[in-house]
Amino acid sequence: MKKRSTHLLDYDRAGLEALFLHLGEQRFRASQAMKWIYGEREMNLDAFSNFSKTLREKLKAVFTLDVPELVSEQKSVDGTIKWLLKVDEVNAVEVVYIPEKNRGTLCVSSQVGCSLNCTFCATGAQGFNRHLTTAEIIAQVWVAAKQLDHHPVKNRRITNIVMMGMGEPLANYSNVLPALNIMRDDFGFGFANRRVTVSTAGMVSKIDQLNLDADVSLAISLHSPFDDLRDKLVPLNKKYNIETLLASCRRFIKDKKKARITWEYTLIDGVNDQPEHARALTKLLSKIPSKINLIPFNPFPGTLFKQSKPENIERFKEICMKAGYITTVRKTRGDDIAAACGQLAGEFMDRTRRSGQVNKLALELV
Ligand code: SAH
Repeated sequence: MKKRSTHLLDYDRAGLEALFLHLGEQRFRASQAMKWIYGEREMNLDAFSNFSKTLREKLKAVFTLDVPELVSEQKSVDGTIKWLLKVDEVNAVEVVYIPEKNRGTLCVSSQVGCSLNCTFCATGAQGFNRHLTTAEIIAQVWVAAKQLDHHPVKNRRITNIVMMGMGEPLANYSNVLPALNIMRDDFGFGFANRRVTVSTAGMVSKIDQLNLDADVSLAISLHSPFDDLRDKLVPLNKKYNIETLLASCRRFIKDKKKARITWEYTLIDGVNDQPEHARALTKLLSKIPSKINLIPFNPFPGTLFKQSKPENIERFKEICMKAGYITTVRKTRGDDIAAACGQLAGEFMDRTRRSGQVNKLALELV
């Protein structure tokens, strides 16, 4: 049996219930604890006033309840906020809040670094160090919510969560799943299923698993309608090609009311932004309820790629729209604080020593 964690944020409700039963306590203590932690944003066990002193002492003797240290808070001129959380002596992760008129999206990280090595991503270029624990994932939401509780601008709330920060969430499945549960639990953060999105570069076996375990929204980082090009942009494509990926997406939304897949497509100058790419994309997705999210490439130090020209972005969008797809161009947000897509790098020791290397696959494309 897996060793029990001693951090209380590692448990979703089912996990906490099993834990309290194991401790000889009543099951309902789980929802009570969650109300304190996530509802009241309380990290001091002594404040749990409906727990007896004996129970509080018992918990304190074995369990930890805290969040990573907040190292910095950076605010962009456009309202975007980036927080850096120190998860251990050598590692820190970033979490980004993006306010819009009627919503506020929190972009959450799942790993320190990333092992997928997508050629156009700053996180990938930095290499991989480790998975985040469930506690470290859910703590990002907790810290952001707590900071926003005191935000001077009214209504700066989190309405949506996207697992689009550092890392590949489905590569850290067993830690990400309880975090997704806490996000959507009424005793947790209470987000509606559709408002929690898992973004993946296409780990097909885990998409199928997610389909069984959590009714969340799915976003796929596609970036090319052609396998040969996608092999170079997203090396994971060599393991799960586009057709295999699409089949798993069809399974994912089958029988789900109003569900659709969000396709993320980073537009890189002269690489994947031509009309032939757009037309092939619209054909490829034709039988899948879809939304296309175009992301103008955000440059980062050392990259060989350039952002697509505005007229090419517009042309790409037109082709998608004419084919009947809801298509948005993601505004670059928070780039003055390096919080834009693909710019999140956190701070960590790169165990793969990939840092700084210019990617060979990228060289073939420019
Ligand atoms: N690993 C997951 C989660 C990361 S999401 C995934 O691949 O979906 C981060 C999103 O930003 C992905 O769609 C990614 O492809 C995109 N992205 C990465 N680097 C980028 C860059 N430099 N400019 C624009 N978008 C980028």
